[in-house]
Amino acid sequence: MPYRGRLAPSPTGHLHLGHARTFWIAAERARLAGGTLLLRNDDLDARRFRLDFVEAMLEDLGWLGFAWEEPVIAQSARLPRYRAALAKLHAAGLIFPCTRTRRDVLEAVAAPHEGGADDEPVYPPQFRPPADAPLPPLGETVNVNWRFRVPDGEEIVFSDGKFGPQRAVAGRDFGDFLVWRKDDVPSYQLSCAVDDAELGITEVVRGADLIKSTFRQLLLIRALGHAAPAYYHAPLMLDERGERLAKRHDALALRTMRERGVTPKEILGQFERETMLP
Ligand code: GLU
Repeated sequence: MPYRGRLAPSPTGHLHLGHARTFWIAAERARLAGGTLLLRNDDLDARRFRLDFVEAMLEDLGWLGFAWEEPVIAQSARLPRYRAALAKLHAAGLIFPCTRTRRDVLEAVAAPHEGGADDEPVYPPQFRPPADAPLPPLGETVNVNWRFRVPDGEEIVFSDGKFGPQRAVAGRDFGDFLVWRKDDVPSYQLSCAVDDAELGITEVVRGADLIKSTFRQLLLIRALGHAAPAYYHAPLMLDERGERLAKRHDALALRTMRERGVTPKEILGQFERETMLP
């Protein structure tokens, strides 16, 4: 199967040096495998999405010399695909409606959760409806989130192209997770799993902060009857204090660097020197 990779930025801020490094690794892996690269615009989060960030993203990627052969894929144009996937999960009884707030969940988790700051706590099992409870039809429920019921106790494994064997136990390391939000938008987990599977991606290259999401996405991909891609998680770039780069590090935004006279050659040259592929 020919290699097919993707870059999947979210237009919720300006791209920074850390994005460039992950994207460079993705592009190198596609190039070395003689494959193709897609650009996916993860533009579903209407609360944080901004059109000027999409333009800036395309401009920054072009400035660095990234290229893709096929038209850019906007997630906002693929809602019917995600809805079809949701219907499939619903028909298989793998999801349930949830009216709990984020706060309810946080208050109910007994132990302070140990995941990273960005990770969600394990969904309290007492909030789950019984497995045999009849599901309300989709579309007739208002103000509910839909969650995926994880197979408690099952060990999910995958071999990461960079970090080697990875394992997590469903229900212990991560719990029932969001697939559809009450504002009628698919979650990142669902849209990403559907796209990676349906767009024929053979290897997903992204930041190491998403390793835990991979377990969730593997469950979704399996439930939807697709074959899973390979995964390669790129080590995160840290700032001088050892914290991961975030969109708030304005000095490391690609556009700021460009304004200060840094060239793409300098940036990519640095990646080439410091990054040992694969
Ligand atoms: N759009 C997501 C982000 O920027 C990345 C998704 C992915 O690569 O799976 O965090």
